[in-house]
Amino acid sequence: MTIPQDPKPCIDLHCHTTASDGALDPEQLVARAAERGVSHLAITDHDTIDGLARARAASAVLGLELINGVELSCVWRSHTIHVVGLDFDHANGDFLEALARQNDNRWQRARLIADKLHKLKVDNLLERATAMAGGDVPGRPHFAQVLVEAEVVPKVAHAFKRLLGAGKPGDVKACWPELDEVVQWINAAGGIAVLAHPRKYRMTATRLRDLTADFRRAGGRAIEVSVSGQSSGDLGFVAELARREQLLASQGSDFHFPGAPWCELGKIVKMPEGLEPVWHHFRQPVGV
Ligand code: AMP
Ligand code: ZN
Ligand code: FE
Ligand code: FE
Repeated sequence: MTIPQDPKPCIDLHCHTTASDGALDPEQLVARAAERGVSHLAITDHDTIDGLARARAASAVLGLELINGVELSCVWRSHTIHVVGLDFDHANGDFLEALARQNDNRWQRARLIADKLHKLKVDNLLERATAMAGGDVPGRPHFAQVLVEAEVVPKVAHAFKRLLGAGKPGDVKACWPELDEVVQWINAAGGIAVLAHPRKYRMTATRLRDLTADFRRAGGRAIEVSVSGQSSGDLGFVAELARREQLLASQGSDFHFPGAPWCELGKIVKMPEGLEPVWHHFRQPVGV
């Protein structure tokens, strides 16, 4: 069955499935996106494209355009940074090797997180976090869920605030490649590197300008301007960064699970004027 679409494209280029730390599996995610009127969707799981084949099949049935996507973890000057890759060749051998190394990095990090949190005396923390991740490598949200279950903290947000967030004992950065390197992986696979959710790094304006300039020098081509839960001040600030560095503008919900009304598939704040949309530069351009 094909769901009729609004002729105006509804574009969401950032979201997660159970292939990383999302709550919906690829079929459920695509179905929800279709229900919400999304016409063009990029699934951007953390450091993996394992959900894409199933999502592609589901998208074909529901008449949605699926753009290849991934969200890569890296470091820049001791900050953990997320770079979204869009519209790359998902069969590129070097890219697949890089993703396999990222998966090893994630396992190494998961073991380090479990070691660092051993003082909490949660039995089988790594095993339980792995089970929470469906047997795949656990991310910080999976550890957070186990810590809630074990009544170490009342809520996931507390787990990040006390134990897993930036600068806390369970925040391990040592495992990630440099920003330049992940940008090069994406470019070499024919994709577009997008600096994800710039305001989430809690950097000063000066530092964020430095990051954006370095990202651009490394070969990054786009920046997420419209992101869920962002103030209008932040939207304007990031739009200005995009203009200043002549970066293409991207948008996405960063949807992880249903039930958070401020973060829903296809719910995107209108992009400020004067920016060049990243989707005009896909191999099959959208809306031009
Ligand atoms: P990881 O890639 O394992 O480091 O996990 C990153 C993910 O953790 C993000 O995509 C969010 O889903 C989640 N996350 C990061 N910070 C917080 C926070 N303060 N509260 C809740 N979830 C968070
Ligand atoms: Zn996530
Ligand atoms: Fe992210
Ligand atoms: Fe994300």
